[in-house]
Amino acid sequence: MTARIIDGKAEAETLRAVVAEEVARLSAEAGFVPGLAVVLVGEDPASQVYVGSKAKQTVEAGMRSIEHKLSADTPEAELLALIDRLNRDDAVDGILVQLPLPRQIDSAKVLAAIAPEKDVDGFHVVNVGKLATGQWSLVPCTPYGSMILLNRTLGSLAGLEAVVVGRSNIVGKPMAQLLLKANCTVTIAHSRTRDIAAVCRRGDILVAAVGIPEFVKGDWIKPGATVIDVGINRVPAPDKGPGKTRLVGDVAFDEAAAVAGAITPVPGGVGPMTIATLLANTLIAATKRRGLAPPAHFDAIDKALFR
Ligand code: NDP
Repeated sequence: MTARIIDGKAEAETLRAVVAEEVARLSAEAGFVPGLAVVLVGEDPASQVYVGSKAKQTVEAGMRSIEHKLSADTPEAELLALIDRLNRDDAVDGILVQLPLPRQIDSAKVLAAIAPEKDVDGFHVVNVGKLATGQWSLVPCTPYGSMILLNRTLGSLAGLEAVVVGRSNIVGKPMAQLLLKANCTVTIAHSRTRDIAAVCRRGDILVAAVGIPEFVKGDWIKPGATVIDVGINRVPAPDKGPGKTRLVGDVAFDEAAAVAGAITPVPGGVGPMTIATLLANTLIAATKRRGLAPPAHFDAIDKALFR
């Protein structure tokens, strides 16, 4: 069997186009333009690239991008004061603090300071709690994007066995909660799981969010399963030349594609969906905060996946 490749790049493009259309409509009909504030502390090169793409795509979607770049030695109190200002700024609909933060800053304290209704990353305990108790909430971007890809690939997920490898607060746990909400039977595997290969083989859906290059092997996959590879790992690529690197996922792609029914590639799978869902979350937060009906496209996704 050769798996169907799930084209996250194309899906993300479609999603961004829907967001741009809705933003244009809101601006014409309701007279406001959603704004996303992104806060970067320090000069981590990967974070600078992410923040740059987020800002670019925010503007391309017709929204306002508000960037705050602070030096690596910024005291925690100064960052908290900035978040407080953004919370109170009516022109700001979404606030994202790029992680990781420098050592002197307590990330949990910072995430807790963001107003839950502007928490477009979905990491605030209020949003985490709402998700866990089946209430509507802003949902973390990477799991949200992964769920959209699953919905496009499989339609209803009800009754399917889903295995999530990884239990981070950013990916694994919210992904498992969303799969549960979509009526899957969910197993979460992690570093202490016994016979992880056998556990993975149970999954009609297998989500890998581990952070180890090509960790999930082809013979861990149930024939015909849908595989979502969240991993982004940079590894040496001597075949491309000295010092060159390439991106690989947490799944051994070639082996997996020979067994799976459908699979996301790396790059071009989950990655592009993460920024697209961030834009979607900003738009959703903007409408929700103003008491407007949610954009129809995202309401339909909610209904298809979660009700
Ligand atoms: P974390 O390091 O926070 O979590 C990794 C998880 O994998 C942990 O729960 C850990 O288990 C588990 N794990 C580690 N080693 C093993 C093992 N040997 N066997 C089984 N489980 C193991 O990573 P993240 O969740 O933040 O990220 C995961 C991957 O997703 C990374 O490659 C990251 O780059 C990528 N990512 C991609 C995004 C995108 O936009 N596509 C966004 C965010 C992340 P335990 O809890 O027991 O330690």
